[in-house]
Amino acid sequence: MLKAGAGRLAGQVCVVTGAAGGIGRASAVLFAENGADGIVLADVDQDGAEETRRLIEDAVGPGKAVVQPTDVSKIDACEAMIDRAEKEFGKLTVLFNNAGIMHSNDDNAETTEENIWDLTMAINVKGVFFGCKFGIPAMRRAGGGSIINTASFVSTLGAATPQLAYTSSKGAVLSMTRELAVIHARQNIRVNNLCPGPLNTPLLQKFLDTEEKRQRRLVHNPMGRFGEASEMAQAALFLASKESSFVTGTSLYVDGGITAAYVTPE
Ligand code: NAD
Repeated sequence: MLKAGAGRLAGQVCVVTGAAGGIGRASAVLFAENGADGIVLADVDQDGAEETRRLIEDAVGPGKAVVQPTDVSKIDACEAMIDRAEKEFGKLTVLFNNAGIMHSNDDNAETTEENIWDLTMAINVKGVFFGCKFGIPAMRRAGGGSIINTASFVSTLGAATPQLAYTSSKGAVLSMTRELAVIHARQNIRVNNLCPGPLNTPLLQKFLDTEEKRQRRLVHNPMGRFGEASEMAQAALFLASKESSFVTGTSLYVDGGITAAYVTPE
């Protein structure tokens, strides 16, 4: 068991959205293992977030994580999420805006319905905006911090297996992060994107129910495999920690090389 105060996130208080799922859960557990003082686990899936809390308790002992039921598309819920960090652990210094959806009815411009577009934007874009709306003043009160927004490799790559609303939402996150980083750079608040490649998490894998569908994607990835949530968590840990103290306004691609590739190995 980790000694209190030891580790790369010693002294940090974190909010992780989407903490019941793949990247969010893996990151929350890794943040705890690296000595974070406290972690607020925010998700619409309360049972899943509770399971993450149990995993953290098993890893580092009790009292380090709390569950805050949160729909990030709702402004009041986001305010309550940030308040919880300050009330429970005294401050906020790391905000991981990671919750996101990819809807099964999200397709091309002709077939995607307006309600699917609106829902995707409400969670993937407005959710990040709301997190920052309340997280940034809290970080100023704490003397600074690190915001990590989960965008995607599709922020910069087009796919002929379209999810137009999703892709557009992640492009918006990419731009929002860049501007926030510039605005708040002299307030000791850093803002960066994590851009995962295609992963082995339910968000994508629920669509890839045949080997043909999997191979249709994998042929474009130089490494020839899907990434793991644990590999995203390591990148989030770097961006959350003081080790990235001169990194702001950037996008960290953790994508197996997919955004660098033209022709991939046979
Ligand atoms: P996941 O589905 O395992 O986890 C997403 C989590 O977000 C879930 O726990 C879900 O309950 C939660 N969530 C959904 N709607 C919410 C809402 N309104 N409020 C609060 N929480 C909500 O997926 P993941 O792969 O861990 O995805 C995490 C992030 O990574 C997402 O933003 C996703 O777009 C992004 N991403 C994923 C991939 C991939 O291939 N899986 C690739 C690039 C980017």
